[in-house]
This record gives sequence, structure tokens and C-alpha cells, in this order.
Amino acid sequence: MKIVEYSRQLQWVGHLRCNHCQGLNEAWRSSGMSECFPHFFCSGCSNVIHRDADKELVWEAATPELLAQIAATLPYCPCGGRFTPGAGPKCGHCHQQIDLINDPVEYLRNPHMVVMDGACAFSDQRPPYQVRIVD
Ligand SMILES: [Zn+2]
Ligand SMILES: [Zn+2]
Repeated sequence: MKIVEYSRQLQWVGHLRCNHCQGLNEAWRSSGMSECFPHFFCSGCSNVIHRDADKELVWEAATPELLAQIAATLPYCPCGGRFTPGAGPKCGHCHQQIDLINDPVEYLRNPHMVVMDGACAFSDQRPPYQVRIVD
């Protein structure tokens, strides 16, 4: 798989704090300008998917019905989990899910996609890539 390296010096590389163990996880976060919504994390790992086809659906309105419609079409992740509304990235320290998403319907239009160091980003537009945070 293609690997994309992001420097720690970049504005959009930072630390995501785990709400269970308070551990810090290096991650890249997309800017609001890149409009990476909606995106969905895997139920089993920190991989994330963002599809332009879904964006067209939620452009006008984000509703529970649309969420259910999109959720039904979300694929399985190579890890065996499935991209699922409400799933969050997993902490590299305690391995629990970081609670990033309070309201999955509201989150449909959150443009700030978080890709943890080592996680893969999937799309309907281009091949998947793995993110690595480097110096
Ligand atoms: Zn943790
Ligand atoms: Zn997965």
C-alpha cells in the first residue's frame, strides 16, 4: 500500500488524547478546507474511509435516515472490522476506542478527518494509503 509521510512540523499533525488512559497518539488531521466529510472509522482498528459519493448525499442535510442509508453501504475493512458510524480510532496505548464522536448524525458533516500514525485512509476516488508521522 502507498505510504504518505507527514512531518511532525506540519500544522495538521498533532496529538489525539485518549479519553480512557490520557495517552497521546500522534495523528494527522485534515483541515476544514479539505472537506473530508463524512468519514467513518473501522470498528476494529483506526482505519478510516471517506467517499465523495457520501458527501453528495449529506451536502444538503444530515439526517438519521441518510446516516442509515450510508451505513448500509459501508465496506468491510481489511482487518475484518467494518467502517461504522460512531466508531472511533483506537488508542495505541490502551487499545480502547477513543470517543471522538458523540453524535454520529452531527458528525456526518465534520470535515476534520483524523488519521492516526500507521492507520490507512480509504476512498472511492483513489487507492488507499497508509499515514506515517515522521520527523
Ligand atoms: Zn488509551
Ligand atoms: Zn479495520
